[in-house]
Amino acid sequence: MELKKKNVLITNIQRYSLQDGPGFRTTVFLKGCPLRCPWCHNPETQDSAREIQFDLEKCTACGACVQVCLTKAICRVGNNIIFNREVCSRCGLCIEVCSNSAREWSGQEMTIDEIVTEVKGDEMFYTSSGGGVTISGGDPLYFPQYTKELSRCLKEELLHVAVETAAFCKWSYLEELCQYTNLFLIDLKTMDSEKYRKVIGTSLEVVQQNIERLVDAGASIRVRVPVIPGFNDSEGDYEAIAAYLGKLRNRLKGVDILPFHSYAWKKYKLLGRWDCYQYKNTESLQPEDVIDLAKKLKEAGFTTANSSLTIGGLT
Ligand code: SF4
Ligand code: SF4
Repeated sequence: MELKKKNVLITNIQRYSLQDGPGFRTTVFLKGCPLRCPWCHNPETQDSAREIQFDLEKCTACGACVQVCLTKAICRVGNNIIFNREVCSRCGLCIEVCSNSAREWSGQEMTIDEIVTEVKGDEMFYTSSGGGVTISGGDPLYFPQYTKELSRCLKEELLHVAVETAAFCKWSYLEELCQYTNLFLIDLKTMDSEKYRKVIGTSLEVVQQNIERLVDAGASIRVRVPVIPGFNDSEGDYEAIAAYLGKLRNRLKGVDILPFHSYAWKKYKLLGRWDCYQYKNTESLQPEDVIDLAKKLKEAGFTTANSSLTIGGLT
């Protein structure tokens, strides 16, 4: 087993997750994503570099960080501490001196051995619930070699492995991963290529081709549809998504409708991205808000009875 993989950072290892695949899951979040969805629920996983989270609510304005910062990225203005990320060199000195944990790293290096050892601590929960480990992010396919190696090692430990991805990557990356992955959780955000390119900045055709190739390869797939107000929640959007998935129905494990939620607001603040967060005034959707999409997917042959259709993911 390769012991050290540099440059891939982990933002979180979340235990007892019930919505990232079957049973109790431990979800490993990799830091880095080729997409920039403006509603992203995990903005700390977009940038592959380590970032500093600054929590103004914990800051007592003691000024210790101002004293140690060599680039003058931090300054005091009256009783306020101002952090200019543009001149921050990410040296971390301010984190070391902050006794209030108001400044923290997002993203830590972990060896694959360390991850495997940590997730194996929950093995009895996987066994009793039919669960396992989900590799998420960010996007694991942004780090194809690392993800392949991590999946291989997890499989070697006889763990159920799910990989959550937007499938915007070379087909060969997914193809190689198939042998080590029990389940792919693939995001499908819209069927409108122009909108996909304009808002997400990349090609929907690549995603569609990858989904279809995975289906042809016999991979086990759940497609996840995030429902985002103003982006993909029109009747036309729902019809197009249901029509496309309906054609693949017999070869998909299922579809999970994921209603938009606004819980990520604090993360945007901690990362200094609050001003550019477009969904700061958008309220979370409730399951009843996505019922029209659920109806269309039911008409296309998916059903909640056998979990081939869920709102919120498997529980
Ligand atoms: S990480 Fe270094 S450069 Fe950035 S604010 Fe902290 S002390 Fe200053
Ligand atoms: S060291 Fe921590 S508590 Fe003190 S001013 Fe800096 S961020 Fe605030």
